Amino acid sequence: MGDKTSGSTAISVAPQASELQKEFEEQQLATICGYTQHMQQPQPSSLGVEGGARLLARADWGARLPKSVEHFEGPAPYVIIHHSYMPAACFSTADCMKSMRDMQDFHQLERGWNDIGYSFGIGGDGMIYTGRGFNVIGAHAPKYNDKSVGIVLIGDWRTELPPKQMLDAAKSLIAFGVFKGYIDPAYKLLGHKQVRDTECPGGRLFQEISTWPHFNNSIRFNTTTEQPAQVQPQPQSQSQPQPQPKPLPVVPRV
Ligand SMILES: [Zn+2]
Repeated sequence: MGDKTSGSTAISVAPQASELQKEFEEQQLATICGYTQHMQQPQPSSLGVEGGARLLARADWGARLPKSVEHFEGPAPYVIIHHSYMPAACFSTADCMKSMRDMQDFHQLERGWNDIGYSFGIGGDGMIYTGRGFNVIGAHAPKYNDKSVGIVLIGDWRTELPPKQMLDAAKSLIAFGVFKGYIDPAYKLLGHKQVRDTECPGGRLFQEISTWPHFNNSIRFNTTTEQPAQVQPQPQSQSQPQPQPKPLPVVPRV
């Protein structure tokens, strides 16, 4: 959605890609420095952070620039878990980097979104890959894109449980987000299927996250249990990937 005039905190810098790149690099650097610093501190057990998970910047996996970046005011009250379904699970960092690029290609080039839809990706290598990052409006869960952190666990987790290092990395990322103030300490953890008609994040992974702290069982797609406050209308917003330009095969894509 290149042209926006109403978004209060939107940053749209199509003509100045270098500025955008600079801002992104600074943002990612700050994130990584904070994370590193945090991981070097004695691990606060209350945060449940385990050492070992590493946060990789966009440049590390060869991300293209986003077309534009729109921020929302944090901290995010929701964390939404996805599986990628495709790409399939990756277990080496090289493969996971390629998976991130493939997802960005699909979202940005085929679907025409600003960027990869998710805030972060988690690889089977136990690494955390920066997608849009914290406090950036995503394209992964309609109505929640401007109030959530969207985390995709790369792979198809309908019947298999992701490896432990992957689950640990996701938990570490959430704890880090809370610690740094990007995620509300009283956040609600949801699976994608709770806010949209989809199989995502896969039955087995959904079963797993339903045992995690902050999982919120009261939100279900198509029920009136909880209707999120109407988000500001986002005209022609790619942040809400509802209209599909062409019918896709019946697969739980995201
Ligand atoms: Zn999803």
